[in-house]
Amino acid sequence: MKKRIAILGSTGSIGTQALDVIRQNPGLFTPEVLTAQSNCHLLIRQAKEFSPNAVVIRRDDCYQEVADALKSYPIKVFAGEDSLSQIVEMDSIDLVLNALVGYAGLKPTLTAIAACKNVALANKETLVIAGDLVMKQALKNRVTIIPVDSEHSAIFQCLTGERYNTVEKIFLTASGGPFHGKNKVHLMNVKKEAALKHPNWKMGDKITIDSASLMNKGLEVIEARWLFNLLPEQIEVVIHPQSILHSIVQFIDGSMKAQMGLPDMRVPVLYALSYPERVSSAFPRFSFKDYPQLTFESPDTGIFRNLDLAYEALHKGGNMPCVLNAANEIAVQAFLEDRLTFLEMPDIIEKCLQTVPFIYQPSYEDYVDTNTDTRHRAVEYIRNI
Ligand code: NAD
Ligand code: MG
Repeated sequence: MKKRIAILGSTGSIGTQALDVIRQNPGLFTPEVLTAQSNCHLLIRQAKEFSPNAVVIRRDDCYQEVADALKSYPIKVFAGEDSLSQIVEMDSIDLVLNALVGYAGLKPTLTAIAACKNVALANKETLVIAGDLVMKQALKNRVTIIPVDSEHSAIFQCLTGERYNTVEKIFLTASGGPFHGKNKVHLMNVKKEAALKHPNWKMGDKITIDSASLMNKGLEVIEARWLFNLLPEQIEVVIHPQSILHSIVQFIDGSMKAQMGLPDMRVPVLYALSYPERVSSAFPRFSFKDYPQLTFESPDTGIFRNLDLAYEALHKGGNMPCVLNAANEIAVQAFLEDRLTFLEMPDIIEKCLQTVPFIYQPSYEDYVDTNTDTRHRAVEYIRNI
């Protein structure tokens, strides 16, 4: 039996790489659902190639174009935000790959869990916003959340077979991004073109900016806290510019396990799709000759303030990580539109963390309200900067 997969965000960086993985393993996986925000042309092309049961285009005004293009195919076409989360309830779906970016990923994850579907989670924002709620629901419904993020996939793989053993701490590796080693004067004037040039990974714009500002690692610290039930003190970030060790677990006996390989997101995507099995792949292999030196250093949080802000939000708990995420999404968007400088992004996030009212144990509705409130404030702070 082929595993039937719903790919949310099939036109994005992770989505297209997942389809590449499926294309190379036609006997193992089949895309049951494909979804996109507004890139109808690519969605239509993907639908014609893979013949999914259904597609969803998030933007209502794109519906007609997709429906017309697919009218002679046995493919259902839906549009809108509600369809995006409802579609994951389909009986014929075995696994939901959430490759959406940002806050939009939260609701479909919760719907998938409510429908008892296992989730391969690339959308780290889901766990940053509402990790407590998501993990509780997953436990209750016996749903497995399989991380796709390379660092978390690494930790997940290192923990396989260690169920009854105690973790002392984990080390999340970070490449340092395109501005690794740069000083404040340099960063004052950097533009999006420079920030969008990641040295090791080709990813969507939002995560690429997050990588340049170290917010990506901050979000990943929070993601790891929930996925692996760790205290903030048990999660350490280490800069490893070659991106070969994808992350490391240290156990109570002092032994450390790392998972390594070339930086290629198709590897953790394949693992998440095939889990608990491993299947063969033809992806390029690591060669020690090409990497005579693997290096490690501490992050410079004096310059890259976002990492400390993420730890601060995690320590405060409640709705603060949701505030961090919402403020960051608005700040990144403003930076991409040249309305905010690189070094102003943490200022906006910090201001939101200081001003949005704290909620100790937020409900889903509280997260929705916190997200909306924070976005409004962040927009206002950016306007007045
Ligand atoms: P991307 O921007 O390339 O793709 C996002 C996808 O989601 C697209 O298909 C887009 O159409 C869809 N989308 C965007 N906004 C939407 C909305 N409001 N409603 C519905 N659909 C929407 O992003 P990406 O780089 O593929 O990243 C996806 C997620 O995976 C992010 O959470 C990111 O942090 C995480 N991730 C990505 C990588 C990577 O290599 N790209 C690595 C690790 C983790
Ligand atoms: Mg990552």
